Amino acid sequence: MDYLPLFLDIRNQQCLVVGGGEVALRKVRLLYSAGAVVRVVSPLIHKDIETLLANADHQLYARTYQPEDMDDVKLVIAATSDGELNLKVSQHARQKNLFVNVVDDGQVGNAIMPSIVDRSPVITAFSTGGKAPVMARHMRQTLEGILPANYGNLAEMAGRFRHRVISEVKDINRRRQFWEDALQSIASEKALRGDLEGAERLLEQLLYDMSDEMVGEVYLIGAGPGDPELLTFKALRLMQQADVVLYDNLVSKEIVDLCRRDADLIYVGKRCSNHTFTQEEINSMMVDFAKVGKRVARLKGGDPFIFGRGGEELETLAEANIPFQIVPGITAASGCASYAGIPLTHRDYAQSAQFITGHCKFDADEIDWDKMKDPRQTLVFYMGINNLDKICNMLIKFGTEPERPVAIVYKGTTAYQRVFTGTVDTIADIAKEHKVKPPSLIIIGNVVKLKDKLEWFNPVSDSALHEPCHC
Ligand code: SAH
Repeated sequence: MDYLPLFLDIRNQQCLVVGGGEVALRKVRLLYSAGAVVRVVSPLIHKDIETLLANADHQLYARTYQPEDMDDVKLVIAATSDGELNLKVSQHARQKNLFVNVVDDGQVGNAIMPSIVDRSPVITAFSTGGKAPVMARHMRQTLEGILPANYGNLAEMAGRFRHRVISEVKDINRRRQFWEDALQSIASEKALRGDLEGAERLLEQLLYDMSDEMVGEVYLIGAGPGDPELLTFKALRLMQQADVVLYDNLVSKEIVDLCRRDADLIYVGKRCSNHTFTQEEINSMMVDFAKVGKRVARLKGGDPFIFGRGGEELETLAEANIPFQIVPGITAASGCASYAGIPLTHRDYAQSAQFITGHCKFDADEIDWDKMKDPRQTLVFYMGINNLDKICNMLIKFGTEPERPVAIVYKGTTAYQRVFTGTVDTIADIAKEHKVKPPSLIIIGNVVKLKDKLEWFNPVSDSALHEPCHC
């Protein structure tokens, strides 16, 4: 992080603005609305600045800047159109250990004025570090659209009711639950409409209704194949509510970073060191956390119900009477196929698709190899990369054409994605040659022929094999 975001209480503090034009006017307005005492120095001063700062506390000096103008100020803004002067102001301010913002050139100063969306008391501030002002404008437009005009009323409502909740609900988890419920209730709607008193009456009712007993909940969430943008809205919402997050090695760091900031994040995937959580340990952790009222997000790669042992985990919860919700995710087959440009079905090439585990005993009893020779279907093997030669041998043995096309998608949908293609009789050697590791998905069938025409996602992946691991 190049800058520390910070909100300053600048009320009644002296701030210097060097410059008196349109740009200075914008900065003066901001300082004024935050309650600062503003000193403006510029040979020419915009008439709107004069009007705004007509009050005696503020100071307007219609002359050129002098270093003494910085005496007793807390913050300096250089807003002239003269780059050299801005630089000089910035140097003086730095010598005096003051924070200085230089408009249009954040690098020269040591403070950046962020873009803001003001729904006071809720203020959203963001910055591109001065690198992409247009991007900042887009972000602002988006946020302006998302945050209702009266959004600040919600915070106002919460502020007015806060002490009552603290004194009546001692347990911090229950308090958090109260506010989660409150913010999704009709009380919020009333507050957004401006009826703060009506909102408060409803909050009181809600507080009264809260039962003493509180059991948590478990959210079994499919986090998709890797690209964080493939998360569902629901996944994201519940990830941001959970108090505890248990996540696997298939869940990327970028996705884990989207969980609530103060949640306990517990990695339960395979460890580089010797301790691995057993399935039983994970199950009982979920039950134990939920029993003390925590909301637990169990984050799994892809879809929890596709080779994800989601069913087993939920059985334990059901037996312990712990409430749960299931959020489906995009499974590796869908994600990898899309990002590799390989449709899993296609009217001309494949009328069905099978998802098969490649982590198996390789006897005919466990998997029906005989059913796989039909060329009008697509076969997708999960967890098969370390058994690829065995899989291909079995396929050929049971009648699959050795020339059937095969694609391997390594870390599909992520910046590390690599796709290797071959045929059933060549792909095992190709994978060995490139030392392809898990997680990789194997797609077999004539649909693979479409890849060259439809591929669209080609991340630069020189560092492909060096992604940091979670443990
Ligand atoms: N529940 C998961 C699958 C878990 S099994 C899902 O629905 O996707 C683990 C296997 O999934 C891996 O061995 C690999 O075959 C596949 N897999 C998961 N994510 C992948 C990815 N991003 N790229 C390639 N294969 C992936």
